[in-house]
Amino acid sequence: MSMIYRPQKYKIEDKAKLPFIDDNEINEILREVQSPTQEQVREVIQKSLAKNRLSLQETAILINANEPELIQEIKSAAKELKQRVYGKRIVLFAPLYIGNLCINNCTYCGFKADNKAQKRTTLTDDDLREEVKSLEDAGHKRLILVYGEHPKYNAKFIAQSVKTVYSVKSNKGEIRRVNINAAPLDVEGFKIVKASGIGTYQIFQETYHHETYLQVHKSGLKRDYDWRITGLDRAMEAGIDDLGIGALLGLYDWRFEVLGLLRHVNHFEAVFNVGPHTISFPRIQAASGIEVDKKWAVSDDDFTKMVAILRLAVPYTGLILTAREPASIRNEVLQYGVSQIDGGTNISMKGYSHLEVKQDIDAEQFEIKDDRSLNEVMEELVDTGFIPSFCTACYRLNRTGEHFMEFSVPGFIKRFCQPNAMLTLAEYLEDYAPLSTKEKGYRLIENELKNYEDPNFKEKLMERLHKVKMGKRDLYF
Ligand code: SAM
Ligand code: SF4
Repeated sequence: MSMIYRPQKYKIEDKAKLPFIDDNEINEILREVQSPTQEQVREVIQKSLAKNRLSLQETAILINANEPELIQEIKSAAKELKQRVYGKRIVLFAPLYIGNLCINNCTYCGFKADNKAQKRTTLTDDDLREEVKSLEDAGHKRLILVYGEHPKYNAKFIAQSVKTVYSVKSNKGEIRRVNINAAPLDVEGFKIVKASGIGTYQIFQETYHHETYLQVHKSGLKRDYDWRITGLDRAMEAGIDDLGIGALLGLYDWRFEVLGLLRHVNHFEAVFNVGPHTISFPRIQAASGIEVDKKWAVSDDDFTKMVAILRLAVPYTGLILTAREPASIRNEVLQYGVSQIDGGTNISMKGYSHLEVKQDIDAEQFEIKDDRSLNEVMEELVDTGFIPSFCTACYRLNRTGEHFMEFSVPGFIKRFCQPNAMLTLAEYLEDYAPLSTKEKGYRLIENELKNYEDPNFKEKLMERLHKVKMGKRDLYF
């Protein structure tokens, strides 16, 4: 295995200088605990319920627990832990595809260079403004911009698109946080993108398994495993301390990928003293011009178990689930640990401003299975007792990275996240919701208010909710 690039600025323990994904080590850990006892599994669950991070070995014990009774216990524990750590809030965002030009040949992706059926487009400035206006008119406040890998989509281009998005204001609508999912850049490039005011930079390793990585990344820059896996280290060096990692499930054994993700988390903590903000775990979906071996396809049962295990393994890392999954799966795993979802998703190029075109497989990266409108998603969340949130307060108050105190300050969720969720929900109810959602939403807010015992804080919150009703916007704690 080759040595990998590492920012020199940081003093790294000798151990962290080694390539941090060692396939043999992961395989060995999975083999060591192939048949865990009930006691072992329950012991790990208890450790996690006490809000402790799990080691790779402990996580492997949960991964290898196969008795239905134990799987149920894992899921119930994840549900409990999620409730304790995150409360009832679910953060909502929308993906926005900026361009589908791509020089790479990832076997699983409709944008791959060799796919001649894909209609290639890059949004012009005007297209982008139109898309953002449509998203704002639906009620969105948080976007993730997505790009193929192409010389045209360089750092300056990405930064310019971010600035354009922030500049669009439609009625009371505005985008308050722009995240990025794009190819890894060099440190200078990441600095340029950071200066445009982004939130999270996401790069998925796709598969942590070296051999599979080479099999599925046939050509192009992405074929270089080491350049990709060190991408977020360079982002960190450039000052972007809000990072998203991910694995594309279905390329290799999900058990291996879970431990790869955890190793990646450990790496950030060892080197930068802060873990990634989010983990994504998309399952491969049908796409134009792709053929993916079904050997490693992840069943619904394994997928839901995996989400519960991730929740228990890294209690403080956000888990993202997208509209690739159908509503039924989304609703189930929301219970076990997912903290962010997209809503009203349309990944066709220019799809938000041309809603008449539902899904066109040759003008999008892959098929989605949840094409409900944002309001339908919001209403279902409210019906099931979740508080949909468009909150962007932490990032705007610099509560990010090492200083991201969300989970280390006692009562943080209750004092900041939950009230901010209510305030952004109230904005949505005032500006975008149909009457039935509005009534249900305010009922939920009323009920939540009953949980606030501190009269001073409750008064402040009620005062701000009243101001939102009177037309004030963008209030947060
Ligand atoms: N081109 C950049 C890259 O590859 O890093 C940006 C990301 S790509 C547009 C977004 C993500 O979509 C990929 O990282 C991959 O995990 C996921 N993806 C690609 N093909 C997919 C498919 N057929 N089904 C589900 N997700 C897919
Ligand atoms: Fe290009 Fe990204 Fe698709 Fe690979 S996953 S073909 S890099 S857009």
